[in-house]
Amino acid sequence: ARVRSLLLIKQQFSALQSQHEAMRIIATTDSLTGVRNKRYLLDNGDRFVTDRRHQPVSAVVLDIDFFKRLNDTPGHITCDRVLEQLGNLLIDAVRDDTLVARFGGEEFVILLQQCGLEDALKRAEELRERVEHLHPAGHQITISIGVAERTERMATPQEVIKGADKALYRAKKKGRNRA
Ligand code: GH3
Ligand code: MG
Ligand code: MG
Repeated sequence: ARVRSLLLIKQQFSALQSQHEAMRIIATTDSLTGVRNKRYLLDNGDRFVTDRRHQPVSAVVLDIDFFKRLNDTPGHITCDRVLEQLGNLLIDAVRDDTLVARFGGEEFVILLQQCGLEDALKRAEELRERVEHLHPAGHQITISIGVAERTERMATPQEVIKGADKALYRAKKKGRNRA
């Protein structure tokens, strides 16, 4: 009887552990796109960008061009599917040492370890091209991208992301669909 009760406790303990793991994933994942959510980015960004072993680190901010227009015509449900498929592409496109998060509506942040500015720009351009040919939910979309490398003056995740966001703004002003 004692063995049986110990086995039961062990079973319950593993069930609890997998439940805990499932909850952890739900709490850190964006339910629509499958990438990390903003909370995860804010909680882990620091550790991610300051780890000495993984320098240089760069941030990429990307935003769908004229997404509002798409929302107005094919509608909200289709646009949700567009976001979902873009999320899948982003997950597929990056390595394990990369943090991809949904930062806002149709805006995503990618933190790249062991990746300087030049390298990050190259990867952003590859991403831009892949999105152009994705046709999510049957619609052509394009993205604009901003990139920034972490420096001493831009050392926190918030600062690097802000730097990338400024570059994104310039890409939008220059005509969109560019990094
Ligand atoms: P720009 O090229 O300057 O980025 O133009 P834009 O229209 O993409 O930019 P804006 O920020 O004006 O519009 C973003 C729109 O994205 C607003 C909203 O209609 C849509 N959006 C944001 N989040 C979601 C979402 O979760 N689902 C859907 N379907 N639409 C969303
Ligand atoms: Mg947009
Ligand atoms: Mg936006």
